[in-house]
Amino acid sequence: MGPPPKESPVLRISKADYDLIRWEAEHCYPYECCGIILGTLEDGQRMVTMTLKCENARTDAAHHRYSIHPDQLVAALKLARSRSESIIGFYHSHPDCPPRYSTTDLTEAHWFGCSYVITSVDGGRASATDSYMLVGTEDRKKFLAEEIEVIVNGETARAAL
Ligand SMILES: [Zn+2]
Repeated sequence: MGPPPKESPVLRISKADYDLIRWEAEHCYPYECCGIILGTLEDGQRMVTMTLKCENARTDAAHHRYSIHPDQLVAALKLARSRSESIIGFYHSHPDCPPRYSTTDLTEAHWFGCSYVITSVDGGRASATDSYMLVGTEDRKKFLAEEIEVIVNGETARAAL
């Protein structure tokens, strides 16, 4: 994708999708949930249109790792294309850990320009949800903190960072 934006990026999401991501984080506790985020890119605005819950393919360390099966990723790409949309991000949870990305999260992230949304779950309850955009190149990549703009009936309800 293009060069990293100069200003802090923003991910716009409906309250329904936002709540669903957080519910899944709670539901999967004490394991990590994970999923794919479809959306549109218009006038530099990134808007979530759909979230796709994925099975956490990590059976060895599912309480602090996640991975999405490649077949499910391909299926999601096809779905996005059929809707004239794109994969604009991924989400997962951090059971009993802050919503800050881990070194592993950065190492295993390869979708530049995509959002990586992380929900912290404390004792089974979703607390903070943060998002980072992957920028740079494979050998020099980093996560840029981005704002999550929650939309209710077309209006911004809450902005979280
Ligand atoms: Zn993580």
